[in-house]
Amino acid sequence: MEDLIIIGTGCAGLTAAIYTARAGLSPLVFEGPMPGGQLTATSEIENFPGFPDGIDGYSLIENMRRQATRFGARFEYATIETLNLNTTPRQLHTTSKTYETRAIIIATGAAPRLLDIPGEKEFFGGKGVSTCATCDGAFYRDMDVAIIGGGDSACEEALFLARFASRVWLVHRRDKLRASEIMARRVLAHAKITPVWNTAPTAILGDDAGLVRAIACQTTPAGQLVEIACKGVFIAIGHKPNTQPFANILPMDTNGYLLTATGSTHTQVAGIFAAGDCADSIYRQAITAAGTGCRAAIEAERWLQHREH
Ligand SMILES: Cc1cc2nc3c(=O)[nH]c(=O)nc-3n(C[C@H](O)[C@H](O)[C@H](O)COP(=O)(O)OP(=O)(O)OC[C@H]3O[C@@H](n4cnc5c(N)ncnc54)[C@H](O)[C@@H]3O)c2cc1C
Repeated sequence: MEDLIIIGTGCAGLTAAIYTARAGLSPLVFEGPMPGGQLTATSEIENFPGFPDGIDGYSLIENMRRQATRFGARFEYATIETLNLNTTPRQLHTTSKTYETRAIIIATGAAPRLLDIPGEKEFFGGKGVSTCATCDGAFYRDMDVAIIGGGDSACEEALFLARFASRVWLVHRRDKLRASEIMARRVLAHAKITPVWNTAPTAILGDDAGLVRAIACQTTPAGQLVEIACKGVFIAIGHKPNTQPFANILPMDTNGYLLTATGSTHTQVAGIFAAGDCADSIYRQAITAAGTGCRAAIEAERWLQHREH
């Protein structure tokens, strides 16, 4: 039986692994379907503290993994399919094996929703397509960019991008934003943001250098084809937390984000903690994921210690 199992090897899971391994818990860490998590999909990270010249996502994650391994974390290339929290110890099931543990840190992250159109995957990560304006906006200084979406996140990202870009096209398939009134008003009043209503992207187009040059769109309902010239395309149509294995087992909000006690990583079930993007619909940054991973590690360690006594 394990003392602690960590599910996920993004920033949250690996930070939790570093802390709990250093505390002598020898955690078993599950890699899941995307070893290293979302950061492995990005070429350059400029906002993680400690790297004044930036660092690529893969190297940052590999450094964290080495750091955790050095202190005794063990890694398993498997995906957790479901949990049984009615037993003591708790049980975790992969397709082929059952594991038993006293405590669990869930750090399964989230996946940005994509448009599923030609060019999107091809130009993702450093070539012009992004799902995170906070992360990549600064790369598009004095360039034209497009943001796809019409909710609060899309509006927030549009306002953020407008600090750098020369023009922000806000492409939305309806004729009205879904965002809150105040946010919509702020966006529509901004001199650099131009809404493109009733328009849906159909493809992302590249130039000879393999970088984005435009998005091809179709107007609705007329079906007219238009091209919007831009160097960056920011997709802001929401995120999907990777919490399906915990459905009907752990409390979640209506969008599937795991719920934790205020100011803590404790879920409602004793000994089960949640960290990173799977429990955070607001910040979704590497540093906040690492921060909650640290917090979950300390809380899990204290919970285990308390239980022993
Ligand atoms: C393209 C891109 C660029 C980004 N750039 C930046 C940036 O510059 N700066 C920044 O701060 N943030 C950036 N982010 C956001 C950042 O990557 C995330 O906030 C961060 O990775 C979240 O970490 P996490 O550990 O919570 O989850 P994730 O990184 O999503 O990792 C989740 C982990 O859980 C595992 N997992 C999932 N389900 C299971 C399961 N059932 N069983 C076992 N394991 C499972 C996965 O395999 C993965 O290892 C970027 C995101 C993207 C997509």
